[in-house]
Amino acid sequence: MSRVNTVLGPIPPEELGAVAVHEHIGYGMPGSELDTQWWRMPEEHYEATVPKLRQFREYGGGTFVDVTGICNGRDVDYYKSLSAKTGVHIVACTGFVGGDTALPFFARASVDYLTRHFVHEITVGIGDTGSRAGVIKVGVSRGGRMTELDQRIYRAAARAAATTGVPILTHLAIDAEPAVAIFAEEGLPLDRVLFGHADDGLNSPRTPHEWIFEQGGRIGFDTFGYETEIEDLPFWARPRQERLDHFLRLLNNGHLDQLLVSADANCSPLGWPGVKGHTVNYIFEDLVPDLRDAGVAEATVTKLLIDNPADFLTIRT
Ligand SMILES: [Zn+2]
Repeated sequence: MSRVNTVLGPIPPEELGAVAVHEHIGYGMPGSELDTQWWRMPEEHYEATVPKLRQFREYGGGTFVDVTGICNGRDVDYYKSLSAKTGVHIVACTGFVGGDTALPFFARASVDYLTRHFVHEITVGIGDTGSRAGVIKVGVSRGGRMTELDQRIYRAAARAAATTGVPILTHLAIDAEPAVAIFAEEGLPLDRVLFGHADDGLNSPRTPHEWIFEQGGRIGFDTFGYETEIEDLPFWARPRQERLDHFLRLLNNGHLDQLLVSADANCSPLGWPGVKGHTVNYIFEDLVPDLRDAGVAEATVTKLLIDNPADFLTIRT
């Protein structure tokens, strides 16, 4: 039977509904739980997050994929509670946002250890939560080049993906050549990989979009909403129209099957204030209306939000 691992158990892909494929319930850097300025009570996190997920559900959102890696505040028992209360399916990940957010215990680990760890979290469960990871997160460390540790994590992720059938999401699609080489060496078809953050202001100029498509990879325009127009703009912001035009260009070049969209929201940030005025609901409040205004067909919107994510997230046996 086809299935996707959510924190409340496996579900058939037809039940995913509209998917936000790259998001965060709460994201922070390793050690942020020790920060005394920004540490917040669990009640405050619920208070900030529940209304956003309820709104997401009301808009027709079905599934929220949390790609907060190990060491970045991933908290599966909390996700289970949020999912049960709001009715939003939540998919949790194994893996790391990048080598530079892996704590020393993992940073020193071998490919073999990391592979076994990822496979355990996918097939047995994450800690004692009983929840199985539905995706694997990997990424490029700060500096723009894949480090030796990044490559070790990518290789372990490729092996775990090939063994278990869950897909991989990447943080950043820059320096893609070593990544593609590793996936090829490990025999992982590239349609199991979503190269993320291909649209942000900082990285989109350095991302080889067409080359990734040619290799068979999927591309994530997954930072929608981080616009230079917002008051509290982050360093990765990009003009709204420029991002949309770029996306429409790729769509019109025939890449619909390989494109996915998301907002990379941080519902209740850990150890930092986050970006005011940006939520996962940008997808429904701004992106979908923008696509419709640009003349994108309803069937295309459905494919972007429902069919493509279902195809990508379904465990491949
Ligand atoms: Zn992210």
